[in-house]
Amino acid sequence: MDLLIPFGLSNTTNEVIEPHEADRGRACDAYCPGCKTPLLSRHPQDTETRIHFAHDSRHPKASKKTIQDCPFNGPLAIALMARALAPQLSGESLSNPELNIRVSCKLCNSEIFTDSVSIKNSITIKKAESSYTKFGALFDLRIELGNASILIWLAYADRPLPEIEYKNLERIGVLKIDVNSFDSFQFKRGTKSFQDSVKDFLLLDGKREWIYHPAEKKRATEKAKENNHSCVVFECSKCNSKWFHDVKKMPECPKKCAIRYTKKSMNQTKIAYEDTFFISRY
Ligand SMILES: [Zn+2]
Ligand SMILES: [Zn+2]
Ligand SMILES: [Zn+2]
Repeated sequence: MDLLIPFGLSNTTNEVIEPHEADRGRACDAYCPGCKTPLLSRHPQDTETRIHFAHDSRHPKASKKTIQDCPFNGPLAIALMARALAPQLSGESLSNPELNIRVSCKLCNSEIFTDSVSIKNSITIKKAESSYTKFGALFDLRIELGNASILIWLAYADRPLPEIEYKNLERIGVLKIDVNSFDSFQFKRGTKSFQDSVKDFLLLDGKREWIYHPAEKKRATEKAKENNHSCVVFECSKCNSKWFHDVKKMPECPKKCAIRYTKKSMNQTKIAYEDTFFISRY
């Protein structure tokens, strides 16, 4: 993804400045958010390429090595802009993806039920803050709703989702938005500002999925209580092994004795609490 350099920071105010708002060339008085090198505002002759910033490589403060290593390519620029948008997000609506879960038995592995936790909808943001630390990881945004909140993780190639213990989350959801789904082709061809493009990406267009939904655990527990799943225990009369049978397969003794020794032993208690089932997505 190459977005040229879609925004800079003003030398005087430190505020976000877009190339078309800045004076041409070195007079833009801005620096690169990724490597701090001074920028030039470029106004290309051909109308196909939009006005953009470039590193001012001949500036006395510029170093070739720093520019080469600058991380301010597409994904980082999008993530930093998304964070800078936090104060503007109150009252905006955030699009949510649907979530369907499959609840399976921990003992026998078989599916107990599937359920829709959430349909695709949109919710109104009460307040947003950027760079929120939770579970030892830095989330890009934290969105406050009425009585729940959503942590937003912007994912791109070298920034995988951290390992998080989701078991103790109450009224907190985790939403992953894939930065690689930003339409950079449309951005480069269009006239929409980078700020508006990232805002639409964040609130509406970006590919998103629930890593954890605030209602999923409660929903799964309630339905599991109503459910009559009971595991079948089999045993082998040759070696006396006992095991929970996965109903999708033929019963098979773990020590591989012949099937004729296999017999049903008893029914296990009902599945009702979270330590007896696990949730996956489909
Ligand atoms: Zn840079
Ligand atoms: Zn079972
Ligand atoms: Zn056996």
